[in-house]
Amino acid sequence: MTLLFNIYTIFPEIFPGFLGCSLTGKALTEGIWSYKTINIRDYAFDKHASVDDTPCGGGAGMIMRADVLGQALRANYKNGPLLAMSPKGKPLTQQQVHELSKNNEISVICGRFEGIDERVIEAYEIEEVSIGDYILTGGEQAAQIMFDAIIRLLPGVLGNNQSLENESFEFGLLEYPQYTRPIEWQGKRVPDVLLSGHHKKIEEWRKQQALKITAERRPDLLKKYLDSKRV
Ligand code: SAH
Repeated sequence: MTLLFNIYTIFPEIFPGFLGCSLTGKALTEGIWSYKTINIRDYAFDKHASVDDTPCGGGAGMIMRADVLGQALRANYKNGPLLAMSPKGKPLTQQQVHELSKNNEISVICGRFEGIDERVIEAYEIEEVSIGDYILTGGEQAAQIMFDAIIRLLPGVLGNNQSLENESFEFGLLEYPQYTRPIEWQGKRVPDVLLSGHHKKIEEWRKQQALKITAERRPDLLKKYLDSKRV
């Protein structure tokens, strides 16, 4: 099985970007995933190949035209999830990343300028996805981050499947603190419990630490976690 990303962009040269390095790069060479870029500009009609125009109703910046993007989709989109990277999308979660990783094909539109004409989003029932509450210059960067999160879940990408299981978000909590050798560094010792070899105590300590860190840093996650335990 292999996962294909169809990427609608006006900057195809941004891909594969950092996805061509390290574990995701190796997985690309091995054919575990692949990508195809569709240059939206190839579907422009006028002699300047314009893909954008000024916003109706006024305001700053430019908007990606529905007719040009619509034509690119009509010519290329077949099936599978159709997403657009957007700060006004639903925030991406690890759970959604797991669901996306089960597909054979995912299509993603990378916005530029001030975003995309709403009509094309409605017409193609495009699901908007945000990678966080901040603004980037383009959807390509956001798409690469989402792809990275998906690719590392594909079978054969990470050496040790265990490393997936205890990670932040996998259990609804942030990860506990981790240590390695040297046992003492700058007068600070690794917590004794981790050196005890007592697996049950280690597990309890890690759980307590995960709860403490999540309470301090992400009370929203802790609430969700506790609510889910109550049912
Ligand atoms: N005017 C828009 C922001 C446009 S930023 C707004 O206020 O919502 C330009 C493009 O970058 C967007 O179309 C989107 O594809 C991408 N982008 C920027 N921030 C993003 C984020 N947090 N998550 C996903 N995509 C983002």
